[in-house]
Amino acid sequence: MAFESLSERLNKAIKNISGQGKLTEKNMNDMLREVRMSLLEADVNYGVVKDFIERVKEKALGQEVLDSLNPSQMVVKIVHDELQELLGQSDAKLHLKPNGLSTIMMVGLQGTGKTTASAKIARFAKQKLKKRVLLVACDVVRPAAIEQLQTLGKQIDVEVFSLGAQTSAIETARKALQYANEHQKDLVIFDTAGRLHIDEELMDELKEMKEIVHPDDILLTVDAMTGQDIVTVAKEFNEQLQITGLVVTKMDGDARGGGLLSVRTITDVPVMFVSNGEKVEDLEEFHPDRMADRILGMGDILTLVEQAQDKMDMEIQKKAVERMQEGIFTFNDLLDQYKQVKKMGSMQNVMKMIPGLNKLGAQIDDEQVDAGVKKNEAIIHSMTPYEREHPNCLKASRKSRIAKGAGVKVMDVNRLISQVEQMQTLTKMMKSGKMPDFGAMQRG
Ligand code: GDP
Repeated sequence: MAFESLSERLNKAIKNISGQGKLTEKNMNDMLREVRMSLLEADVNYGVVKDFIERVKEKALGQEVLDSLNPSQMVVKIVHDELQELLGQSDAKLHLKPNGLSTIMMVGLQGTGKTTASAKIARFAKQKLKKRVLLVACDVVRPAAIEQLQTLGKQIDVEVFSLGAQTSAIETARKALQYANEHQKDLVIFDTAGRLHIDEELMDELKEMKEIVHPDDILLTVDAMTGQDIVTVAKEFNEQLQITGLVVTKMDGDARGGGLLSVRTITDVPVMFVSNGEKVEDLEEFHPDRMADRILGMGDILTLVEQAQDKMDMEIQKKAVERMQEGIFTFNDLLDQYKQVKKMGSMQNVMKMIPGLNKLGAQIDDEQVDAGVKKNEAIIHSMTPYEREHPNCLKASRKSRIAKGAGVKVMDVNRLISQVEQMQTLTKMMKSGKMPDFGAMQRG
């Protein structure tokens, strides 16, 4: 996960000062020094860090803070707000037309994840914005880019327009627009060619395409792992093409985060999306406030809920809630829940997004959790369909057969049975109204 070490260091600095009731010039300076070092180490642009520290200092020494009930908490808030300011004051949204045909040009250097991001944004626009999307394969430079886009298009059930690698990108773009108009599409996303480095030929080609496509948005993909290079590349593309937003990719890697924290201030181009994995669903809209929360270890419950809605199968979840309201919870329900939770990625990352549990997240050993889940799955798979639905029928002989089948001890089977029994007790309480109705909470 990107920002990991920045987050750890900032947290330490903040904890130090918020643990001290009194704010003195000395502990303030100590904290600011630590914040400065952590930002520089995360590869944030030097000038950006300098201004950041000055702004925090100025505000923190203001009368309002000194007069407040808890000055150190106020300082933490100032750091948070300034961090948010670096990331962008408010959410940046796509500029698509409410009606009629809109177009997006995806641009970026080779290997930054442009083709993948084109498909991810197509999926986003189709699902969240209810657009009828056409993807257009205009990257005729990188071998296999067309095929890759076609494969991705199939995965997300979005049509891909291509005239093959022999037809020029410009000609393909022209024909694609015509096709989109004839087939009642309302959003066309052009995956354009990249190069390994910025060169004149690339920029000329993109400018020509811009003339034809009249894009509502030009999105530049930049790789989080390239650090400060993000700023250089964004500046150059922006000067030549006036880009409207950034898609920062590979945020699932261990990028230090400096590029993302510097780019807005230096180029004034907002980050619109971050991509955090290779799969088509691994895309998040970028929210500066939530990212600031996450960096300062305050969790990000809103993104977690959105990810759950996006990645989990909501039909299965709805059925699970209905069964629980009926007071039913069996081994099959547990298997379903394991499957759903796995779609959310590692337990550690899930915990980090929950305010208050994020510190605990670091202590969780994902391998250990996985091993425990695998063991329980093996036990359930050794049961007959009848046993899975009727936990109460499991007497000694059945238990020892199941344990043998799963290669575990009877003790492990007993532990799993008591877990399911506990869940059954809870669901029965829910049915009888002794507990809050989770179903209503979910619907509400
Ligand atoms: P393009 O040359 O810019 O079109 O790049 P691609 O879309 O082909 O992506 C290059 C490689 O990066 C591929 O192997 C992608 O699967 C991978 N990739 C793209 N986005 C991400 C991401 O957010 N995280 C990770 N881990 N890999 C990514």
